[in-house]
Amino acid sequence: MQGQNPVFIPGPTNIPDRLRHAMNMQTLDHRAPDFVDLLTPVRAGLKKVLKTETAEVVTFPGSGTGGWEAAVSNTLSPGDTVLAARYGMFSHRWIELCQRLGLTVQVIETPWGEGAPADRIEEALAADKGHAIKAVLATHNETATGVRSDIAAVRRAMDAAGHPAMLYVDGVSSIASMDFRMDEWGVDLAVTGSQKGFMLYTGMAIVGVSRKALQAMETAACPRAYFDFRDMIGANAKGGYPYTPPLQLLFGLGESLKMLLDEEGLDAVFARHHRMAEGVRRAVAAWGMKLCANRPELCSDTVSAIYVPEGFKSDALVNHAFRTYGMSFGVGLGEMAGRAFRIGHLGSLTPSMALSGIATVEMAMADLNYPITLGAGVAAAQDYYRTTAGVPQQKAA
Ligand SMILES: *Cc1c(COP(=O)(O)O)cnc(C)c1O
Repeated sequence: MQGQNPVFIPGPTNIPDRLRHAMNMQTLDHRAPDFVDLLTPVRAGLKKVLKTETAEVVTFPGSGTGGWEAAVSNTLSPGDTVLAARYGMFSHRWIELCQRLGLTVQVIETPWGEGAPADRIEEALAADKGHAIKAVLATHNETATGVRSDIAAVRRAMDAAGHPAMLYVDGVSSIASMDFRMDEWGVDLAVTGSQKGFMLYTGMAIVGVSRKALQAMETAACPRAYFDFRDMIGANAKGGYPYTPPLQLLFGLGESLKMLLDEEGLDAVFARHHRMAEGVRRAVAAWGMKLCANRPELCSDTVSAIYVPEGFKSDALVNHAFRTYGMSFGVGLGEMAGRAFRIGHLGSLTPSMALSGIATVEMAMADLNYPITLGAGVAAAQDYYRTTAGVPQQKAA
């Protein structure tokens, strides 16, 4: 029965029954003339979620990491310099990926708990008179620390420096859950995957590619084959796919986009995520614990990373919650290993579900003699959810 419990990891996320059913399809022929009827609305819907009129959207079999590789390898050349701030495990892994692809990464070391430092990005770009830096990488939502970065501020910094570098944004744990504005923020490459905000199985990388990035693609010399944008965009333009598409995910995406765009509406989706997150934050405060995010304006609406009190081990808490109550929470990653645990609150979630996670981790903490009062976090979240019940709610799925 424990398999019925929702997960509170920040992806993959809970899959609504409706989306599981949508992905349960008999095989269809992807070379048949009607495949285009499946693909076209999905690509159009993805553009709405990314808030772009002008970019191309490509979908590869893969996961978010494959999306990073596609974004980088299609638009840059070995030896190119990219500028990236490191402020968590995901920004760190993206830096590593660039290094493995033969790029030179100019790293801005940033304390974990902070976001992309727009001022230092501006400084670095202003100092780069010869425009050696080809790209600025930013992780919109650092899933390891529960920090949301201000991508509009990064864009302003780039413009203030008058620098022509492209802007690459990892939106894997933000897109479709928190506001993302590809065109307005001047994002050149936007990366996400199927298994977080879209509430689907893992298996698809989704990448938004700006006009400027498409131009860069023409001269980029990084080797790429399976993830070549040109093959994908060429095939998509003819209504097809360069190889066998993950059909079940395309069906799932079609249904997920219907839920996000047509039924709940993106603004209500973002408001719901904020509300889920705020309830969790109230619980954390009631436990007397601290978030990894250094300031309230940095707090992510999709994941909270929470320091455990001195002398406790966060991994033991997460293990205990899983073994005893059959519920999954996120462990601390990288610098946060052992020191923090994470509550993922993105995707398909209601206040009642969030309360079950808060109540369960609270039981696990009480079992391990944490200095908390059983029920304190639950009550704080209940109070918040009760008094914000007028905010648009997720429709029954
Ligand atoms: C989950 C995640 C990724 C990695 O995605 P995979 O689908 O596991 O490859 C990258 N960046 C962020 C911010 C994430 O949350």
